[in-house]
Amino acid sequence: MAVVKERLMDALREHFGFDSFKGNQEKIINSILSGKDTFVIMPTGGGKSLCYQLPALMSPGCALIVSPLIALMKNQVDLVRGYSSKDNVAHFLNSTLSKAQIKKVRADLTAGKTKLLYVAPETLTKQENLDFFKELEISFIAVDEAHCISEWGHDFRPEYRRLKEMIDQISDKLPIIALTATATPKVQSDIVKNLGLNKASIFISSFNRPNLYYEIRPKRKKDQTIKDIVKFIHQHKGKSGIIYTLNRKTTEELADMLVANGVKAVAYHAGLDPSTRAQRQDMFLHEDTEVIVATIAFGMGIDKPDVRFVIHYNIPKSLENYYQETGRAGRDGLEGHCICYYSHKDVQKLEHLMRDKSLSEREMGAQLINETVAYAESAVCRRKVILHYFGEHFETENCGQCDNCRNPKEKIEVKNRVVIMLKAIRALEERFGSEYVINVITGKTSPQINTYRHDQLDVFGEGKEFDAHFWNSLMRQMMLEGLIEKDIEEYGLLKVTDKGTKFLKKPYSIMVALNHQFDEDAVDDEEE
Ligand code: ADP
Ligand code: ZN
Repeated sequence: MAVVKERLMDALREHFGFDSFKGNQEKIINSILSGKDTFVIMPTGGGKSLCYQLPALMSPGCALIVSPLIALMKNQVDLVRGYSSKDNVAHFLNSTLSKAQIKKVRADLTAGKTKLLYVAPETLTKQENLDFFKELEISFIAVDEAHCISEWGHDFRPEYRRLKEMIDQISDKLPIIALTATATPKVQSDIVKNLGLNKASIFISSFNRPNLYYEIRPKRKKDQTIKDIVKFIHQHKGKSGIIYTLNRKTTEELADMLVANGVKAVAYHAGLDPSTRAQRQDMFLHEDTEVIVATIAFGMGIDKPDVRFVIHYNIPKSLENYYQETGRAGRDGLEGHCICYYSHKDVQKLEHLMRDKSLSEREMGAQLINETVAYAESAVCRRKVILHYFGEHFETENCGQCDNCRNPKEKIEVKNRVVIMLKAIRALEERFGSEYVINVITGKTSPQINTYRHDQLDVFGEGKEFDAHFWNSLMRQMMLEGLIEKDIEEYGLLKVTDKGTKFLKKPYSIMVALNHQFDEDAVDDEEE
């Protein structure tokens, strides 16, 4: 039953001092208050916390909030306490508490004084805690950062997998509210399956960030790329920005070079000692430095509203990561410029990083990388590609806020060239990788080609009027089209898919925008 609107508004004003709800908040809160399982998908900054805090404060009993980061738990509890006059309205229970502190928390819970209890998943693995919760009146369970359940999410936590089983031990009648800022269809279905949310009301907010400008730039040699970055920063003098790189060494090098070019910059990565990290984070927050050059270790829980640009010096390992990392720009709704430098060499670097992983991890990783590559090489509106990735259909002729919309690329017919590629892969019996196939197509000999007598094949040199860059780019697009695939088990061997076989039988028109620009023999002066 929907709670009377006035009562909700009064509670909102009383507990938080806000005059209106944001987005879906009111509907979500009604859903929880009426005892339904509820699934909330809302981008960062959308106001997720209030969705469980308010109903927790309004319901009899105490709500359990499962949260993955012990470090952030104290913060959240302090925030709730800040709104209330009573300190015992919210507590957390995790491994950082002393025996005496645990006793106090338990006493407040038993006395019914506490409305929100933040717990780590580990807390729920302890039988004595479960037994204790069984005796309490629990209003509902909120699972924050629910994407941690999924291996497809950006922050998988195995303990999250066991949550449902532990919740059921407390009671199998407790409503569950799951919240996440990750909305890829795969992650969504993992969450629904794992928490048994089949009958849940689902609330999905739009992930569009209209104020962010998305741009891909070809990555050239290191000094050229850095010159390009310096130029951009000078054009944005005095503004704050983050530059993400793949490895620690590069953060230091890049920061040094920026400093040498008159930019106030510092490096940030997990290899620095905690006090240096805290100090540099503070410098950034207090604008003693303009630019922070960081590995992805930087950003979780950082709330600086006026970050004006986010530059990726290397392509991120998934579009999800890209969305989260660029999402730190323009939190105040004003300008946010997101640039990603892209080269095929960086893609190979990412693939290389996975070499020691298990087969299934490599498969998953390769698929995520492919989606990022698709984004980078696409001639379609960037916003449309990103939102499509989150299962959202974005209707636009021209968003006006991405490079592809501002400077549409010219497209060309490649039907016959696709046929050449497919024939070559077939003629080589699907036993060779991209470089070899392209050598054959462009008629380049090598000792290996001579040994196998592949220079005798019909397709040898059939595509020599185009260079290797062209063929590389076409190959990537054909993978996106699903005409060919890289065999992951036999690392990198090219295969023709069923769709490719059908294409060979009956070729059809294929128009693509070709980006030779990404093949520039860029950076090989970086190690991972
Ligand atoms: P999320 O967890 O989705 O990233 P938060 O819960 O941290 O978002 O909320 C983001 C910001 O929005 C916070 O500063 C919060 O106080 C504010 N906020 C949430 N709901 C409202 C509201 N109804 N009116 C005004 N501000 C709100
Ligand atoms: Zn666009």
